[in-house]
Formats: sequence, C-alpha cells, structure tokens
Amino acid sequence: MKTLYRQFTVATLFILAISILIGFTIANIFYITVTKEETIEQNVGIAQEIVATVQNVPYSDEGFDRYMQAVAKLGYQIALVDSSGNMNFFGEPFDDTTFPEEAKRVLTENDTYTGLDSFTDQIFMIGHFTNELHNTVGVPFERNGENYGLFIRPDTKLLGTDIHSVLIGFVVAIGLVSIIGMIWLARQLTRPIVQLTEATKHIARENYNYPLDIKRKDEIGQLSESFNLMQTQLQQNDLARKEFISNVSHDFQSPLMNIQGYADLLKSPDLPDGDRLAYTSIIDQEAKRLSSLTRQLLLLTSLDQGAYPMKTEEFQLDEQLKAVVRKYRWRLEEEDINLSYSLPPTLFRGDAELLDNVWDNLLTNAIKYNKPGGSIEIGLKTVGKEVIIIFKDTGSGISEDAISQLFERFYRGDAARKKDGTGLGLSIVEQVVQLHHGNVEVNSKIGEGSEFILTLPHPDLKQT
Ligand code: ADP
Repeated sequence: MKTLYRQFTVATLFILAISILIGFTIANIFYITVTKEETIEQNVGIAQEIVATVQNVPYSDEGFDRYMQAVAKLGYQIALVDSSGNMNFFGEPFDDTTFPEEAKRVLTENDTYTGLDSFTDQIFMIGHFTNELHNTVGVPFERNGENYGLFIRPDTKLLGTDIHSVLIGFVVAIGLVSIIGMIWLARQLTRPIVQLTEATKHIARENYNYPLDIKRKDEIGQLSESFNLMQTQLQQNDLARKEFISNVSHDFQSPLMNIQGYADLLKSPDLPDGDRLAYTSIIDQEAKRLSSLTRQLLLLTSLDQGAYPMKTEEFQLDEQLKAVVRKYRWRLEEEDINLSYSLPPTLFRGDAELLDNVWDNLLTNAIKYNKPGGSIEIGLKTVGKEVIIIFKDTGSGISEDAISQLFERFYRGDAARKKDGTGLGLSIVEQVVQLHHGNVEVNSKIGEGSEFILTLPHPDLKQT
C-alpha cells in the first residue's frame, strides 16, 4: 500500500532534489553570465601585475623563484612555461598538467590565454573549478631575453576559507534538519490517521470503546473530537436500540401469552357463561393493546426517519380538541370524571393528523391516571405568535424523578403498571410537538394532579 507517510517523505525528498537542481542551475547561469567574466578579468589583471613586477625588478634567479613562491602562497597555482615547452610549477600542483594547444599562442604570438573561456560547450561550472593547467589564464613575458608564459589560477583549496566551511556546514545542517523535520512531521500527521482508521474498523465490529489518544488543537484534533462524539453517540444508539428491541419483545410477549392462555381456557366445554364472557373480554382488551402498540410503534418509527412528510394544513384547533373530548365522553362518564374546557375559535396551521394523536394521548392519560370524581380542564389560548394548549388533571401526579424520564420510550410510571399502557404515548407527543417547533412543559405534584403545557408557534395565526 502507498502509505501517506511514504508519499509525504518521498514528496519532501523530491521537492528537496528539485530545489537543489533549480538552485544549482540558477547559480550556474549566474556564474557563466556574470561571475566567470569578472573572474577571468581579475585573474588576467593579477597575472599582468606579476609580470610587470618581474619585468621591472631585476630579480636574480633565486629571488625570482622566491617571489613566485610568495605569490603562490597568497593563493595561486602557477605554471611557468618557456618557449621550449619546459614547465616550472609553484604552489599546489595541478592534477592535470596537459598543456593546451591554444595556450601555446601565449609564447608564439604574445597572446593572452583565458582557459576558462574554452568551456563554452560545458553548461556546468564545475568544469571550471577542476584543478587542471587547462583552467588557467596565461600572459606572456620576457626575462633574460627569453620568452615565457605565466599561467595562473586561484588555488581553490586555499580559497576554501573558514567562511566557506561555515557556509557549507550551515547548508548541510539546514538540509539535514529539514529532512528530519519533514519525516517527523509526516509521522505526526499520519499517526492519528492510522489511529482513526483502526478505530473505524472497531466501530464496524460494533466495538464503540476504542480509545483515541489524539490531543491536538488543529483540524485533526477536531476530527478526533468529532469521532469520539460519534463513538459515544453510536454507543448510546446501540444501547437504546437493544433496550428498544427488548422492550418491544416484552410488550408483545405478555399480551400474546394472555391471549394464548385465555384462548386455551375458552376451549373447555363446561365453562360457565360468565367466565367465557370475562375471558373473551380479556382477549379483546389484549388484542386492542397489541393493535395500539403496533400503531404507536409504526408512528414513532415513521417520525424517527427524520424526514416525516408533514401534511401541513389550516384547521380549527378548537374543533379538533372538542372532537377528541367527544370521542372519550363515554369513558369520562364511566370513570366519573368531570371535564371542562375553554376552547375559543383558533385557526391553526399544522399536521392535523399528528396533532390528533397528541390530544388523544394527553386526554387518555388524564383519564387513565385520574381518580373517580376527579376533573380535567383543557385550555387553549393565543399569546402573541404562539398557541398554548393546557391539559390539567386531578390525577395521581408525577414525581420529580419520573418527570425527567416521562418522554422516554417505554417509560411507564409505577401507577401505570396496573393500567394498560405502552409507555410510548408521551414520546409521540414530544416528537410531534418538536416537529411543529414547539415545546412541552410538565407541572405536577404527587397526589394533586398534573398539568401538560404545550406551546406551538404559529406566526401566521389568524382568528376567525
Ligand atoms: P402510557 O402508555 O404508560 O400511558 P405514556 O408515554 O403516555 O405511556 O406515559 C408515560 C408515563 O407517564 C405513564 O406510564 C405514567 O406513569 C406517566 N403519566 C403520563 N401522563 C400522566 C398523567 N396525566 N398523570 C400522571 N401520570 C402520567
């Protein structure tokens, strides 16, 4: 696999190589076009000054040699060539002492030789620095009636001064530090990605506890934070899903067992009529419970999809609430509960079918958890751009602890265990209210009753 780390390192080295190449080419062009000419002129000038000194001062042979050695010590390699081709060297020896053909013109035609110029076919300046006799400048001079050629070139070894070594050390250090730095950086960047990849594999295997040890303040740090958040969320979802399945299975299991049990009893031919009637009504009740559970589960699942297609329409909210009350009038009478309402005409815009479920759940709860002779009040009012709907009962009330769990799926209070219920009603209420961008508030006191206050925004509200 082409790892990111390897790609990063290779790219860094490649960039470094390209920079060296470009730098070298620029330096080369600069040397060939500017520096080389200046160096040749400078060297020719020095050679001419040496020659002028030698010709003006009547040196003895020994004095001449010492003078030449002194010049050589100043940083030059010198070759003295006489007309017969004999060579005499001063200073650092040349690696190649081949006498170039053009240089002979110094002796034969009193010409100036500029060896560096003959490298026109060579692009790289390196050739100009090789320690050869070829790379010299030569001027003619006469001594003791004989023609000589003085060929000199700066001694590159002596030219390599302290500042050059410092500079080279500096460049090498920068190069090394850059390479090591880049490799370290590549490792720093790729390490968390490797960790994240490993973590995703664990998540795919439903292990949501993979520890991510990435503490950074950059984008990778943010990614890891989001990843941890996602991990926690997935873990919670997984737990909720398992709990949901176990709740659903249990809630389906008990009515089914009851139906099965009472159906078996019904098979007995000597069963008194009273018992038969009682068992049938239990079976009927349990079947209704199953049906309501399935209906509520289906509704919750479709609300869960996040993209529930809201069928928004304008309707009379007061009429809808009155219709729900009418539906349960018989039950209210049966349970001896007094219901009063204040429902002024209110035109509302929302999903009527979903909201019908909300009122149904709130009213059945207010009846279910009420006591005989108790009462229920339903209120509806418009405050600014909001509609407030209140369901108040004089039922068993809800403890503070229970209020915090009230809207959780399958949550059923102790009192509810005896009654038929699914624990899904208030979850539906909350979801529908949220879909309408509203909120639900609960005020309750144990033994005194409860109050469910729903606030639904409705900016285009028009009174009829
Ligand atoms: P259920 O099907 O059990 O009624 P809900 O989600 O509608 O499920 O309600 C959850 C729990 O909240 C109920 O089991 C009950 O304990 C409590 N509850 C809801 N409404 C009332 C109320 N009006 N008075 C007292 N307790 C209530």
